[in-house]
Amino acid sequence: MDRRNLETVGVRRTGWAALDRDPQQDLVEFICPHCGERDQKNARRERALYRFTDGFLQDLQGEVTQCHACKQSLRVVPIVMLHDQDETRRFEAVFFDGQLVTSH
Ligand SMILES: [Zn+2]
Repeated sequence: MDRRNLETVGVRRTGWAALDRDPQQDLVEFICPHCGERDQKNARRERALYRFTDGFLQDLQGEVTQCHACKQSLRVVPIVMLHDQDETRRFEAVFFDGQLVTSH
């Protein structure tokens, strides 16, 4: 059995990019690469560890977590810090077609 963790891109929204939720929450949002469910975890790594890469603040080490839906482990990497709507839109254009951070 392949023990390697599948990887998926995560988003850590702060400030203006997180107006639609409790500002006290500090979450990394991602889509499970096993089952496709949208999930989130508490952000653990210090913001000082994020590095400016390809136009975004990113944590290139990432965090290992377990999907709440299918219970399989995965690595969320890179984790991209987004500060406002402009950055969110730019991120969506680069990484996705808006499937992860589109507000409902
Ligand atoms: Zn899953």
